[in-house]
Amino acid sequence: MRKVVILGTGGTIAGTGSDPARSWHYVAAQRDVGELLAAVPELAAEALEWMQVAQIDSKDMRWAVWQALAAALDQALARTDVAGVVVTHGTDTLEETAWLLQALHDGRKPVVLTAAMRPATAPDADGPANLRDAVRVARAAAEDGLGGVVAVLGGRVWPGAAVRKVHTLAVDAFNGGEVAPLADLRENGMPCGAEGWSRPWPPCDGMGWSRMSVAEPPRVEVITSHADADGWVVDALCAHGTPQSPLRGLIVAGTGHGTVHEALEAALRRAEAQGVAVWRSTRVAKGGVMAREGDRWPACGPLTPAQARVALVLALLQKQRPAE
Ligand code: ASP
Repeated sequence: MRKVVILGTGGTIAGTGSDPARSWHYVAAQRDVGELLAAVPELAAEALEWMQVAQIDSKDMRWAVWQALAAALDQALARTDVAGVVVTHGTDTLEETAWLLQALHDGRKPVVLTAAMRPATAPDADGPANLRDAVRVARAAAEDGLGGVVAVLGGRVWPGAAVRKVHTLAVDAFNGGEVAPLADLRENGMPCGAEGWSRPWPPCDGMGWSRMSVAEPPRVEVITSHADADGWVVDALCAHGTPQSPLRGLIVAGTGHGTVHEALEAALRRAEAQGVAVWRSTRVAKGGVMAREGDRWPACGPLTPAQARVALVLALLQKQRPAE
């Protein structure tokens, strides 16, 4: 049987606390992924291999960890004895990592992210069931010949490019924006065969893992439009840049359908005149920002501002590549 490789990066799924009665008091990223697997007896008979890529609270996610993760994925997915990969992650930046991995993945094997809202020491920890489901989804997808990046959380399978955290505390903390899950494991049981998936899986036509080889990503920041948004922060960001680390892009989390305060817009025009790329997303939870004729700045579609930031980083990296 081909193996499923589990890559650990930390998060609440690997978190521990000293008082199970107050499970919200805990420290993330304490248990290694081998210990997480040992807590899931249903996986005992599975052909698994695991590796700890990082051990962080995902609120502290950074380029170097993404590079290590991309390298580990590249290696594991290239092996003929590997069916697919599961990544254990924190919930806070899962939507950014999922979007990034989907943008990079160019192979034909499944990559499944999972996480938990409660630490491993909580009496009602959600990590073990999520990990079990993630391994089973990776296995089922591999059998169906499906690749692409998904997230398995709370009994649902979400496309990696759409998944997002929508609740700060609830166990059912994720959705796909306007996008429905690929499968609801709670309703359907395990997907078995192509007809078990309610929608097509994401494609595997990403940019390739080597895109992460650059040491420093272009600097892209996220700012918000709001009452009194007078552009002060944009001017400050531009003034703070150095020739070694210039501001290269700004994602504006706009009001409503990507609208921007007139004073902030004036500052953004000044930034643009200095070579800063500006993209518009929204601070509103649903609906996204669709392109319209006459738009001054590109619209980020359904992406959250944090996902849009990753997208602009990749777009700028693409631009600075020497012609092939
Ligand atoms: N702060 C944690 C993290 O993102 C939260 C979690 O995993 O639920 O690593």
